[in-house]
Amino acid sequence: MLQDPFKRKINYLRLSVTDRCDFRCQYCMSEDIEFMPKHQMLTIEEMNRLANIFINLGVEKIRLTGGEPLVRRGVNELIDKLSQNKKLKELTLTTNGSQLDQKLDVLKQSKIKRINVSLDSLCSENFKKITRIGNLNEVLANLEIAKEYFQIKLNTVLMKNINDHEIIDLVSYAVEQNFNISFIEQMPLGEIGYDRSTSFINSNEAKKIIEKKYILEENNKRTGGPAVYWKIKGSNSFVGFISPHSHNFCDSCNRVRVSADGYLHLCLGHDEKVNLIEPLRDHDTDHAVERLIIDSLSNKPKSHEFNLENKTNVIRFMSHTGG
Ligand code: SAM
Ligand code: SF4
Repeated sequence: MLQDPFKRKINYLRLSVTDRCDFRCQYCMSEDIEFMPKHQMLTIEEMNRLANIFINLGVEKIRLTGGEPLVRRGVNELIDKLSQNKKLKELTLTTNGSQLDQKLDVLKQSKIKRINVSLDSLCSENFKKITRIGNLNEVLANLEIAKEYFQIKLNTVLMKNINDHEIIDLVSYAVEQNFNISFIEQMPLGEIGYDRSTSFINSNEAKKIIEKKYILEENNKRTGGPAVYWKIKGSNSFVGFISPHSHNFCDSCNRVRVSADGYLHLCLGHDEKVNLIEPLRDHDTDHAVERLIIDSLSNKPKSHEFNLENKTNVIRFMSHTGG
C-alpha cells in the first residue's frame, strides 16, 4: 500500500495520456502552447506497464486525462488493457466531450462507468470564446449519446464576467439531464497570457448564485475526489465545488499524477517531479520503478500553495500534468 508521511493512503492515479488537445481553453493553456515532443512521451505499452506497477502498489482507481485523452492515438488499446485488469476497481475518464461519439464503442465495452465532461458555457459564442476552437453543439450532441451508457458529471471552471452569468443555466441543464455538476475555482497553473485573478470567482459566490433558484441540501456524498457535494433538492443531481482556494482539500488527498512524458507529480500545486520513464526503459523488471515510486512518496507535499490572488506559481499547464 502506498502511503505518504502524513499518513494519507494513495490509491488513486491520474494518468495523462497526452498533453495535446483539440481545444485551447483560455484558462488552461495559451493559444500558442508548445506541446512535448512525441518521442519524449510514454508509449501506450509503457503507460499500461506503469499503470500496472501502480495497481500492484495498491492503486485502485485510475482516471485517464490530459490534454484531451481521446485524441491520443492508441488510447483505445490502453482503455482495453486497463479494463481487463481485474485488480483495478475503477477506471474513469475526464474529457472535453468532442470525441465521445467516435470513441463510443470502445468506451461502452470498457470498465468506464463514469465520465467527467468539461462544459463551461451553454452559449455557442461564449463556448467558442472560452475554448477558442470547440463547438458547443457537437459537445451537447455527444452528451446526448453518452448519457445513455455512462453516469455523467459536468466540470465547469468558474470565471467572473465570462461564465458566472451562466451558472444557473448550467445547473438547470444538469438537473434536466440527470447529470451531476462540479464548479472548479481557477488554479494558477502555467502562464496563459493574462492574469487569472481578473476573472477569479470563488465557490462560495457560485453557491450563493445557485441558491437563488435551488435549495442545496447538505450531503456526505464523496467520490474520492476533492469536490464537496450538495444535493439539489427535488432532483437527482448533485452540485459539487472544487475549491482549492476557499476550502483547502489537501488533508484528504489520495492521489498522484503521471504526465504523458512519464514523470510522477506528487502534487498538482508543486513543480517537483520524479522521472519514471528512464528507469522504466532501463529495466526489464518493475522492481526499480516500484522502489522509486514508494521512496518518492516521502516527498509528497502536505498541501498546494496556490494563493488567493491567483498568481501563477506553478509553471506547468493543467493540460501537462493531467487535470
Ligand atoms: N481535456 C479534458 C477536459 O477538458 O476535461 C481533460 C483535461 S482538463 C486539463 C481537466 C480539467 O481541468 C477540466 O475540467 C478543465 O476545465 C480543468 N482545468 C484546466 N485548467 C484549469 C485551471 N487552470 N484551473 C482549474 N481547472 C482547470
Ligand atoms: Fe483541452 Fe481540457 Fe485544457 Fe480545455 S481544459 S484546453 S479541453 S485540456
